[in-house]
Amino acid sequence: MTDLILYETPAPGVARIVLNRPEARNAQSADLLFALNEAFDRAAGDEAIKAIILAASGDHFSAGHDLKWTTEEVAAATAARPRHVSNWSGFGEAGSHGWFAVEQEIYVQNSRRWRNIPKPTIAEVRGRCIAGGLILAWVCDLIVASENALFSDPVVAFGAPGVEWFVHPWELGARKAKELLFTAEGWSAEEAWRLGMVNHVVPDADLADFTLDLASRIADKPAFALKLAKLAVNGALDIQGQASAIDMAVAYHHLAHAHNQQLFGYVMEPTSLPRMTRLRRSA
Ligand code: ZN
Repeated sequence: MTDLILYETPAPGVARIVLNRPEARNAQSADLLFALNEAFDRAAGDEAIKAIILAASGDHFSAGHDLKWTTEEVAAATAARPRHVSNWSGFGEAGSHGWFAVEQEIYVQNSRRWRNIPKPTIAEVRGRCIAGGLILAWVCDLIVASENALFSDPVVAFGAPGVEWFVHPWELGARKAKELLFTAEGWSAEEAWRLGMVNHVVPDADLADFTLDLASRIADKPAFALKLAKLAVNGALDIQGQASAIDMAVAYHHLAHAHNQQLFGYVMEPTSLPRMTRLRRSA
């Protein structure tokens, strides 16, 4: 089996972590997220690394969470981990109890952990960046997008108020965030740049080189100043209430999961999402 995550060091001071499930458009299985966490830990713990790129194999950054895994499979894989990133447990509990713990572990606390790595991170995005794909781009400090990048969080169409890492008002502005959530429609790289969500839009052929050059220009700065600059900006967002807003939205997100479970026996509204039939709980 090929590695779900590749780890490269393409230039002095730069680590390049690559999502490596191109045959599945880099859909995020639980195993892929656990491997990604290990790769981020490796880069964070290596004193020689000063900037981290998060890229993807193939034509698409990420199609989001892998919906071919049932909730039971995700819960079992999470429970089986020898070590957890959060201090949550009870992943096998019935009802919302277990699923809330699972999503805290693999989506919310993982994402928070990556967002707070005290080293600059850059997402290198081409092709589709859908729902959970947005989470991986948004937890990075900078985003470089190919001209062909397409972003979307369509989960309102599937009966939930947005992906688990709810920073849409900061990334898109409150008014545009509402429109893009309500319509479940996508937005282009150019629109993402206009909204301030991405730093640069470049021709697809230049994407890797441009991103590596940007990372190298960051990596030649003093490490401690880079860390403090990141802490200062993230701290400003936290003072605005971003962390609390995410936690509030996670509660609404789980209200939707519980509602869908009661009505349909699925954590999502199934009629809009045929592929989610395997999410049916065996009960
Ligand atoms: Zn969820």
